[in-house]
Amino acid sequence: MKEKLYTIPIQDAFSKDCECPVCEMYRKLEENAINYNIGPGASYMEEDIREQSDKEGFCQKHLKLLYEYNNKLGLAMMLKTHMDRTIKELEKFSKTSLPQPNSMFKKKEVQSHPITDYIAKSEEECFVCGYINQTFESYIMTIFYLYEREEEFREQFASSKGFCINHYKILFEQAPRYLNKKYLETFLNTLNQIFMENFKRVRDDLEWFIRKNDYRYKEEPWKNGRDALPRALTKVGSIWNGEE
Ligand SMILES: [Zn+2]
Ligand SMILES: [Zn+2]
Repeated sequence: MKEKLYTIPIQDAFSKDCECPVCEMYRKLEENAINYNIGPGASYMEEDIREQSDKEGFCQKHLKLLYEYNNKLGLAMMLKTHMDRTIKELEKFSKTSLPQPNSMFKKKEVQSHPITDYIAKSEEECFVCGYINQTFESYIMTIFYLYEREEEFREQFASSKGFCINHYKILFEQAPRYLNKKYLETFLNTLNQIFMENFKRVRDDLEWFIRKNDYRYKEEPWKNGRDALPRALTKVGSIWNGEE
Protein backbone atom coordinates (compact mmCIF):
# COMPACT_ATOMS: atom_id res chain seq x y z
CA MET A 1 0.00 0.00 0.00
CA LYS A 2 1.43 3.34 -1.00
CA GLU A 3 1.60 5.59 2.03
CA LYS A 4 0.91 9.26 1.64
CA LEU A 5 1.13 11.58 4.59
CA TYR A 6 -2.61 12.17 4.88
CA THR A 7 -3.53 8.50 4.53
CA ILE A 8 -1.26 7.33 7.37
CA PRO A 9 -3.64 8.09 10.29
CA ILE A 10 -6.38 6.15 8.50
CA GLN A 11 -4.19 3.16 7.69
CA ASP A 12 -2.79 3.16 11.25
CA ALA A 13 -6.28 3.06 12.74
CA PHE A 14 -7.46 0.27 10.44
CA SER A 15 -4.44 -1.85 11.27
CA LYS A 16 -5.20 -1.65 15.01
CA ASP A 17 -7.07 -4.44 16.74
CA CYS A 18 -10.08 -2.46 17.99
CA GLU A 19 -13.89 -2.35 17.91
CA CYS A 20 -14.01 0.82 15.79
CA PRO A 21 -11.11 2.21 13.75
CA VAL A 22 -12.99 5.51 13.29
CA CYS A 23 -13.19 5.91 17.09
CA GLU A 24 -9.47 5.26 17.09
CA MET A 25 -8.87 8.11 14.61
CA TYR A 26 -11.15 10.39 16.59
CA ARG A 27 -9.34 9.63 19.84
CA LYS A 28 -5.96 10.51 18.30
CA LEU A 29 -7.38 13.78 16.98
CA GLU A 30 -8.87 14.52 20.37
CA GLU A 31 -5.54 13.97 22.09
CA ASN A 32 -3.90 16.36 19.65
CA ALA A 33 -6.68 18.90 20.09
CA ILE A 34 -6.39 18.90 23.88
CA ASN A 35 -2.63 19.16 23.59
CA TYR A 36 -2.95 22.03 21.12
CA ASN A 37 -5.31 23.82 23.47
CA ILE A 38 -3.54 23.45 26.74
CA GLY A 39 -0.23 21.58 26.25
CA PRO A 40 3.29 23.06 26.00
CA GLY A 41 3.34 26.12 23.71
CA ALA A 42 -0.44 26.01 23.73
CA SER A 43 -2.68 28.04 21.53
CA TYR A 44 -4.55 29.79 24.34
CA MET A 45 -1.67 32.27 24.54
CA GLU A 46 -2.40 33.46 20.99
CA GLU A 47 -4.86 36.29 20.79
CA ASP A 48 -6.93 35.30 17.76
CA ILE A 49 -7.34 31.73 18.95
CA ARG A 50 -8.21 32.91 22.41
CA GLU A 51 -10.85 35.18 20.93
CA GLN A 52 -12.45 32.12 19.34
CA SER A 53 -12.26 29.87 22.40
CA ASP A 54 -13.67 32.69 24.55
CA LYS A 55 -16.60 32.89 22.20
CA GLU A 56 -17.25 29.18 21.71
CA GLY A 57 -16.40 27.76 25.11
CA PHE A 58 -16.17 24.00 25.62
CA CYS A 59 -18.55 21.06 25.83
CA GLN A 60 -18.87 18.97 28.97
CA LYS A 61 -16.64 16.16 27.72
CA HIS A 62 -13.83 18.48 26.67
CA LEU A 63 -14.00 20.62 29.79
CA LYS A 64 -13.41 17.41 31.71
CA LEU A 65 -10.46 16.41 29.50
CA LEU A 66 -8.97 19.90 29.74
CA TYR A 67 -9.32 19.73 33.52
CA GLU A 68 -7.61 16.34 33.66
CA TYR A 69 -4.67 17.73 31.69
CA ASN A 70 -1.95 18.99 33.96
CA ASN A 71 -2.25 22.71 33.27
CA LYS A 72 -4.70 24.16 35.77
CA LEU A 73 -3.42 27.73 35.33
CA GLY A 74 -3.90 27.60 31.56
CA LEU A 75 -7.44 26.31 31.92
CA ALA A 76 -8.21 28.90 34.60
CA MET A 77 -7.07 31.69 32.25
CA MET A 78 -9.18 30.37 29.37
CA LEU A 79 -12.27 29.93 31.50
CA LYS A 80 -11.88 33.33 33.13
CA THR A 81 -11.97 35.24 29.84
CA HIS A 82 -14.71 32.94 28.53
CA MET A 83 -16.77 33.81 31.61
CA ASP A 84 -15.98 37.53 31.15
CA ARG A 85 -17.44 37.30 27.68
CA THR A 86 -20.50 35.32 28.82
CA ILE A 87 -21.22 37.91 31.50
CA LYS A 88 -20.92 40.78 29.01
CA GLU A 89 -23.30 39.13 26.53
CA LEU A 90 -25.87 38.02 29.09
CA GLU A 91 -25.94 41.43 30.77
CA LYS A 92 -26.65 42.97 27.37
CA PHE A 93 -29.59 40.60 26.79
CA SER A 94 -30.95 41.02 30.30
CA LYS A 95 -31.88 44.59 29.30
CA THR A 96 -34.40 43.29 26.76
CA SER A 97 -38.01 42.81 27.87
CA LEU A 98 -38.94 39.74 29.91
CA PRO A 99 -41.22 36.97 28.57
CA GLN A 100 -44.97 37.33 29.21
CA PRO A 101 -47.19 34.42 30.39
CA ASN A 102 -48.05 31.93 27.65
CA SER A 103 -51.44 32.55 26.03
CA MET A 104 -54.25 29.98 26.49
CA PHE A 105 -53.61 28.36 23.12
CA LYS A 106 -49.85 28.24 23.37
CA LYS A 107 -49.50 26.68 26.79
CA LYS A 108 -47.02 24.07 25.59
CA GLU A 109 -44.85 26.43 23.64
CA VAL A 110 -41.45 27.36 25.01
CA GLN A 111 -40.90 31.02 24.32
CA SER A 112 -37.60 32.13 22.90
CA HIS A 113 -35.70 34.96 24.54
CA PRO A 114 -32.25 36.40 23.71
CA ILE A 115 -30.92 35.06 27.04
CA THR A 116 -31.95 31.45 26.46
CA ASP A 117 -31.16 31.70 22.73
CA TYR A 118 -27.62 32.77 23.60
CA ILE A 119 -27.16 29.94 26.10
CA ALA A 120 -28.66 27.35 23.74
CA LYS A 121 -26.28 28.45 20.99
CA SER A 122 -23.24 28.29 23.24
CA GLU A 123 -24.28 24.82 24.40
CA GLU A 124 -23.92 23.66 20.81
CA GLU A 125 -20.46 25.11 20.40
CA CYS A 126 -17.13 23.78 21.63
CA PHE A 127 -13.74 25.04 20.56
CA VAL A 128 -12.16 21.56 20.90
CA CYS A 129 -14.99 19.80 19.02
CA GLY A 130 -14.68 22.38 16.25
CA TYR A 131 -10.93 21.91 16.02
CA ILE A 132 -11.34 18.10 15.83
CA ASN A 133 -14.17 18.20 13.31
CA GLN A 134 -12.17 20.17 10.73
CA THR A 135 -9.75 17.25 10.40
CA PHE A 136 -12.23 14.46 11.16
CA GLU A 137 -14.21 15.26 8.01
CA SER A 138 -11.10 14.93 5.88
CA TYR A 139 -10.33 11.60 7.59
CA ILE A 140 -13.76 10.27 6.61
CA MET A 141 -13.14 11.44 3.02
CA THR A 142 -9.79 9.67 3.04
CA ILE A 143 -11.45 6.36 4.00
CA PHE A 144 -13.48 6.56 0.79
CA TYR A 145 -10.46 7.76 -1.18
CA LEU A 146 -8.48 4.70 -0.09
CA TYR A 147 -11.43 2.41 -0.67
CA GLU A 148 -11.64 3.43 -4.32
CA ARG A 149 -7.93 3.25 -4.95
CA GLU A 150 -6.37 0.49 -2.88
CA GLU A 151 -7.30 -3.17 -3.09
CA GLU A 152 -5.31 -3.79 0.07
CA PHE A 153 -7.37 -1.23 1.96
CA ARG A 154 -10.64 -2.77 0.74
CA GLU A 155 -9.47 -6.10 2.18
CA GLN A 156 -8.41 -4.45 5.40
CA PHE A 157 -11.80 -2.75 5.64
CA ALA A 158 -13.68 -6.01 5.03
CA SER A 159 -11.68 -7.89 7.65
CA SER A 160 -11.97 -5.18 10.34
CA LYS A 161 -13.99 -5.73 13.51
CA GLY A 162 -16.67 -3.31 12.37
CA PHE A 163 -17.59 0.06 13.85
CA CYS A 164 -19.43 1.75 16.67
CA ILE A 165 -23.03 2.56 15.85
CA ASN A 166 -22.42 6.29 15.40
CA HIS A 167 -19.55 5.82 12.95
CA TYR A 168 -21.53 3.13 11.13
CA LYS A 169 -24.14 5.83 10.53
CA ILE A 170 -21.56 8.37 9.35
CA LEU A 171 -19.92 5.94 6.90
CA PHE A 172 -23.30 4.80 5.60
CA GLU A 173 -24.66 8.29 4.99
CA GLN A 174 -21.45 9.79 3.57
CA ALA A 175 -20.62 6.93 1.18
CA PRO A 176 -22.92 8.10 -1.67
CA ARG A 177 -21.22 11.53 -1.58
CA TYR A 178 -17.74 10.17 -2.15
CA LEU A 179 -17.86 6.77 -3.80
CA ASN A 180 -18.46 6.19 -7.48
CA LYS A 181 -20.88 3.68 -8.96
CA LYS A 182 -18.25 1.00 -9.20
CA TYR A 183 -17.60 0.83 -5.47
CA LEU A 184 -20.63 2.23 -3.68
CA GLU A 185 -22.73 -0.91 -3.60
CA THR A 186 -19.86 -3.19 -2.55
CA PHE A 187 -18.88 -0.71 0.13
CA LEU A 188 -22.38 -0.47 1.59
CA ASN A 189 -22.94 -4.23 1.52
CA THR A 190 -19.59 -4.86 3.17
CA LEU A 191 -20.25 -2.11 5.71
CA ASN A 192 -23.67 -3.54 6.62
CA GLN A 193 -22.27 -7.00 6.93
CA ILE A 194 -19.21 -6.25 9.05
CA PHE A 195 -21.16 -3.87 11.25
CA MET A 196 -23.87 -6.39 12.05
CA GLU A 197 -21.60 -9.42 12.39
CA ASN A 198 -19.36 -7.66 14.84
CA PHE A 199 -22.14 -5.91 16.73
CA LYS A 200 -23.63 -9.38 17.29
CA ARG A 201 -20.25 -10.78 18.27
CA VAL A 202 -19.91 -8.20 21.05
CA ARG A 203 -23.53 -8.75 22.08
CA ASP A 204 -22.71 -12.48 22.42
CA ASP A 205 -19.56 -11.71 24.41
CA LEU A 206 -21.70 -9.61 26.71
CA GLU A 207 -24.12 -12.50 27.09
CA TRP A 208 -21.24 -14.75 28.07
CA PHE A 209 -20.00 -12.14 30.55
CA ILE A 210 -23.45 -12.15 32.17
CA ARG A 211 -23.45 -15.98 32.31
CA LYS A 212 -19.99 -16.03 33.85
CA ASN A 213 -21.37 -14.01 36.73
CA ASP A 214 -23.77 -16.87 37.41
CA TYR A 215 -22.29 -19.48 39.82
CA ARG A 216 -23.39 -22.35 37.57
CA TYR A 217 -20.91 -21.13 34.91
CA LYS A 218 -18.09 -20.53 37.35
CA GLU A 219 -15.91 -23.34 36.04
CA GLU A 220 -16.49 -22.49 32.36
CA PRO A 221 -13.76 -20.63 30.42
CA TRP A 222 -14.08 -16.85 30.06
CA LYS A 223 -13.79 -17.07 26.25
CA ASN A 224 -14.06 -13.46 25.04
CA GLY A 225 -16.31 -12.36 27.88
CA ARG A 226 -13.80 -10.83 30.25
CA ASP A 227 -13.52 -7.44 28.54
CA ALA A 228 -16.94 -7.58 26.86
CA LEU A 229 -18.30 -4.58 28.75
CA PRO A 230 -15.68 -1.98 27.73
CA ARG A 231 -15.92 -3.24 24.15
CA ALA A 232 -19.70 -2.91 24.27
CA LEU A 233 -19.24 0.69 25.47
CA THR A 234 -17.27 1.35 22.29
CA LYS A 235 -19.87 -0.27 20.04
CA VAL A 236 -22.82 1.48 21.65
CA GLY A 237 -21.39 4.79 22.83
CA SER A 238 -18.10 5.37 20.95
CA ILE A 239 -16.36 5.24 24.33
CA TRP A 240 -12.75 4.26 24.29
CA ASN A 241 -11.55 2.13 27.18
CA GLY A 242 -8.52 0.31 25.87
CA GLU A 243 -4.83 0.50 26.55
CA GLU A 244 -2.48 2.55 24.41
ZN1 LIG B 1 -16.58 4.66 16.39
ZN1 LIG C 1 -16.21 19.37 22.71
